[in-house]
Amino acid sequence: MFSPRRVVVLGATGSIGESAAKVARALPDQMKIVGISGYNNLKRLAELAKEFKPSTVSTKDKSHAEQLLKELTSSSPAPLVVEGEEGLLRLATLPEAELIVIAIVGTAGLKPALAALRAGKNLAIASKEILVMAGQEVMTTARKYERQVLPIDSEHNALFQCLEGRDPTTVRRLILTCSGGPFRNIEASELAHVTPSMALRHPTWSMGSKITIDSATLFNKGLEMIEAHHLFGFPMEKIDVVIHPESIIHSMVEFIDGSLLAHMSQNDMMLPIQSAITYPRRVPGPCNPLNLPEIGALHFEKPRHDLFPALQLAREAGTQGGTMPAILNAANEKAVELFLEEKISFTSIWNYVATVMQQLPSIPTPTLEEIIEADHAARNAVLQLYKRG
Ligand code: NAD
Ligand code: MG
Repeated sequence: MFSPRRVVVLGATGSIGESAAKVARALPDQMKIVGISGYNNLKRLAELAKEFKPSTVSTKDKSHAEQLLKELTSSSPAPLVVEGEEGLLRLATLPEAELIVIAIVGTAGLKPALAALRAGKNLAIASKEILVMAGQEVMTTARKYERQVLPIDSEHNALFQCLEGRDPTTVRRLILTCSGGPFRNIEASELAHVTPSMALRHPTWSMGSKITIDSATLFNKGLEMIEAHHLFGFPMEKIDVVIHPESIIHSMVEFIDGSLLAHMSQNDMMLPIQSAITYPRRVPGPCNPLNLPEIGALHFEKPRHDLFPALQLAREAGTQGGTMPAILNAANEKAVELFLEEKISFTSIWNYVATVMQQLPSIPTPTLEEIIEADHAARNAVLQLYKRG
């Protein structure tokens, strides 16, 4: 008989983490949450711990751990509470876990992801930043330990489904779809006046704030091009982007005979999460099928490369390889942080990333330490640019 897959969710209190919890609620015979981590939202982490009764919970630091233990004293059985980087590594290698969902925003999930693979766990990755930064390292480790890396990012989950069982030599292009974000039709002159609250209003998806800003600059799609390059092993020149405002087609694969396979569904992250958790099986779940007559029409446009330089910057970084994708990713993360704090303008995000990519040299075949150093150097370079004004 099939028993539920035992899953750890790193980043359980975030937008993807909450969608993973919904999947676990809807499909208890498919998914059992055995470990969770949170960072800032202690109250929500305590609620999730009470609901799912995981064996282990990881918090930001010692003081959060103490508060959480107090909250959970009445829970039976009380979970083991761990903290910090060490806590994430404990969770990633939890003996009873089979699959680790990496849903931590940014790059803090990288070391836990590598530790999980080495401990024989499969990964379901939402955190695209870790694949951009160290995709080669993650995929090589997965191959070495014969583990699966299942994509949760909707575009990559779509590509994964379209590519499965296909001969890669018959693939001409991977085509990532992109909603175009909230500024698809903006005038060039208005871009400099975009505020965080304007950029946080995404037209089709509800997500955490970092990825929502990335969706407005199109860095999200740029990062996703590099993510696809590593996950599926195609060169950057075979990876394209098309604007599709309805977010119904999640991505497409073009084959050498001219066929185009597309993956379509409701734009709800529960579906790619369910598909990664239950892989290779397909089971009925909480997402409704599409009602195509109701949707009526789908639209496609070329990206506006002149106004949104993020795609070109990402293509350059991905083609150059080495530490350049880590530099692009870290510079963007730091610039987004400064933009959200209203310290720099929206268009400065691109300018800072472009400048830092020119300032810092790329190491062609870096070690993991060199990648982490490049990440720190890029964050620091953005900070210096900001301080100089
Ligand atoms: P979010 O901001 O809503 O949640 C992030 C989670 O990470 C939270 O649980 C938070 O507590 C935790 N966290 C933050 N900083 C941390 C740190 N330094 N150490 C440990 N934990 C930390 O973000 P999200 O929207 O859920 O996105 C998570 C990841 O998934 C991102 O990489 C994003 O690009 C990717 N993703 C998200 C969506 C989406 O729909 N939200 C879609 C595709 C991919
Ligand atoms: Mg995506």
